Amino acid sequence: MMNQHIHCIVNDCHYWAQGNKCEANEILVATDQFGSSQTDKIDAAMATQLTPASAGSCMDTCCKTYVAKGSGKTTVDNVTRMS
Ligand code: SF4
Repeated sequence: MMNQHIHCIVNDCHYWAQGNKCEANEILVATDQFGSSQTDKIDAAMATQLTPASAGSCMDTCCKTYVAKGSGKTTVDNVTRMS
């Protein structure tokens, strides 16, 4: 496995941790268009089945795995918090 660290400064996400770390075991980054048109169930766990698309700018990408802290939706995406 790659020694990968995901840094994130979105601190109202369920997966965010002190030190600006993402503690999701996997995330899905997508185009804004994809993120806004798909349900919360479409996430990292099914990444291999999804069709890639161009964004054109970093402003047109988003983290599809974001879940608002305390929203109760943390199991919908099949992503696991590592700690
Ligand atoms: S899931 Fe996305 S928004 Fe949430 S902490 Fe990880 S990278 Fe940030």
